[in-house]
Formats: sequence, C-alpha cells, structure tokens
Amino acid sequence: PVSRLPEVGTTIFTVMSALAQQHGAVNLGQGFPDFTGDPALLDLVSEAMHAGHNQYPPMTGVPALREAVSRKIERQHGRHYDPDTEITITAGATQALLTAVLALVHPGDEVIVLDPCYDSYVPAITLAGARAVRVPLRSDDFGPDIDAIGAALGPRTRAIIINTPHNPSGRIWREDEREALTRLLAPTEVLVISDEVYEHMVFDGRMHASASANAELAARTVVVSSFGKTFHVTGWKVGYVAAPAALMAEFRKVHQFNVFTVNTPMQHALARYLAEPAHYEGLPDFYQRKRDLFRAGLAGSRLALLPCEGSYFQCVDYSAVSTLDDEDFCRWLTTEIGVAAIPLSPFCAAPPQRRIARFCFAKQDATLERALQRLAAL
Ligand code: PMP
Ligand code: GLN
Repeated sequence: PVSRLPEVGTTIFTVMSALAQQHGAVNLGQGFPDFTGDPALLDLVSEAMHAGHNQYPPMTGVPALREAVSRKIERQHGRHYDPDTEITITAGATQALLTAVLALVHPGDEVIVLDPCYDSYVPAITLAGARAVRVPLRSDDFGPDIDAIGAALGPRTRAIIINTPHNPSGRIWREDEREALTRLLAPTEVLVISDEVYEHMVFDGRMHASASANAELAARTVVVSSFGKTFHVTGWKVGYVAAPAALMAEFRKVHQFNVFTVNTPMQHALARYLAEPAHYEGLPDFYQRKRDLFRAGLAGSRLALLPCEGSYFQCVDYSAVSTLDDEDFCRWLTTEIGVAAIPLSPFCAAPPQRRIARFCFAKQDATLERALQRLAAL
C-alpha cells in the first residue's frame, strides 16, 4: 500500500470552511479570526521587507525574535530558555508538532494523546512509525484523568502530548493537574510535548498553566506555540518551540530538513511587536468580551452552553435540538441554518458520548450577531 496515512482524508476544518463558502453560511467552524492583525504589526512587516530582510534567516530563527520569545516566557513563567540553544522559530504550531514528534519518537514507540485532541497529533505519531495511545479526558469537564494516564504508561511510552487551553473544549489545566502529571512522570523518561497555542486566551482571571513554569516538567518538555493565534494572523504560519538544549538539538536536526527556515520579514516584525507586552496582555479581555457576547446570544436557545475557560472556541450540547450525529448536525447547521460549526468526532477515536458542536468566536461582533440571529431559532 502506498499510503502512509490510509485512514486520513481532508481535515474537517477545510471541509467545513468549503461547505460554509458553498452555502453562504456564517463560518464559525475553522478557527481563524475574520478581522486582521494590528495595522502597526502589518507595517512592521513592510518595513522589514523594505529594509532588505528578504533572504534566508538563520536556520533556528531570527535572533531578535528568539530573544523576544525568551524574554516573554521568562516574564510570564519565570523560566529562562537560552535563545541560542533552547528556542526555535517554526512555520506555525503544526510544523512544530510534527517536527517534534519526528525528532523524538522512534518507530515502535507509544505516544499518549488525550481525547478529544487536535487532529494533527495522531497522524504525526503514525508518520513517526509509532502508535498513538488515546486516553480520554474526563467526560464531565475535559480535565486530564491523571490515573488513566498512569494506567496507559508502559515500557514503550516515549511521550505524551498535552494541550492547554484545550481545543476544542477551552478547558485550562489547573496548576495541581500539571503538578500531578509531573509527579506521575518523575520515575519515567517520558517526554512531554505541550501544545500551548492558546496560551494568551484565558478568561475569568484564570492563569495559563504552562509546562515551562514547572522546572521538573520543563526539563522533559517541548513547549509549542503560535503567533498566528496570538496576533490574529493565522495565515502567517509563524510559531515557536522552547525546550531544554538536548531536546532542542534533536528538534533542530529535523527542522533543518523539514523547512530549514521560516519566512524572514514576519520574524523581524514579530520580534519588534512582541517586545511590547501590551500587545498580548490585552488578549484575555478582548476574547472574553467576544465569548460573553456569543454566550449571551445563545442563552435563549436550546443549545446548551458548555464552560469556556480559554481558547476562542465555544462548545454546545445540541441534544435538545437534534438527534443527528455531530458530523451530520454540523452539516445541517451549515446548509439549513446558515452557520458553520465543527463536530467533535474528528478529535476523538470513538464517537463522542455527548452531542457536541464547536463554534469559533474569533469574529467581528457583526459576524457573531449575524450567526446568533440564525442560531436563535434553534
Ligand atoms: N494546535 C492546536 C490546538 C490548534 O488549535 C492549532 C490550530 N489552530 C494548531 C496547533 C496549529 O497552529 P498553526 O496554525 O500555528 O499551525
Ligand atoms: N486549529 C484550527 C481549528 O481548530 C484550524 C487550523 C486548520 O485549519 N488546520 O479550527
């Protein structure tokens, strides 16, 4: 058989965006803002291009950006990563995740993922010749079930991939959950890949429990993040990884033959923009207001709101509205009601027990209001 990924088709995000476009639906499916990044940031890219920053940057990323990332992490989480040896700029988080898995996971290994999980994790593990061991998050609140993770650990476990704030549920890990994972892994050599792309989208005064904030955990962790999320520019595809030097050395071996480098002018612009904490510290309030607007608009409908602690996703239980399975429901919602959403099942191994759909609220207020008018009928 030719296919390395025989069970994989086109991602649900692409499928639902195409369906939304075909039917003129309001697209609250695929996670991306329908507004543009700060004009000041866009101007910095233009300046960088005109200043001549248009050739290959260093393989590991533009030094000023690695330094800015290092300062940001230290400011937020009190951990110093050496910009020269412990930070690498990537073509977004998707590349970072695949590169990390290919660099650190060997054929025949097992890698634990927590269901539901982002759809790129399992194919990345498969491409490394390893086996994904899917451990469900708690069904009531999508928190990690540390005992279940413990039960899944075995002699072949190479790594675990975690994600907080969580896509799709928005659940944020508590510090004591992070500490419990740290204790669980202490007697093992299991590595951690921590997907923190929504690190700056945390609501109601909650704190982002980064793996980098815990020295013992950070020593075995590759932290992954993405500027596309933080600065409303998902199409730029620029992100970063932070990891101890020994892990980073392995990451870079693969990175150099995967993309070699990441586009230069965006890196220069991001370096200057990131230096100002106000550019990301306002994000919780910015998105919390949109979350609240969207939740208030749905409060009168029969869509039951699940908690949303972070990320830019709001999940609903639609069982009072429809008995369709989640993929059919999201298709129906797109074609008949005119609002696109994302079903939960592509994030899971087994069909989800609850009837849940995910909406993205990273949209202009007018877009959210247009969607709410249509959803209010449900
Ligand atoms: N991880 C998660 C949890 C995501 O939601 C996404 C994308 N939205 C990514 C990784 C990929 O990020 P990027 O667009 O930077 O590749
Ligand atoms: N991560 C985004 C989401 O969850 C989509 C990114 C993509 O389309 N691959 O909607």
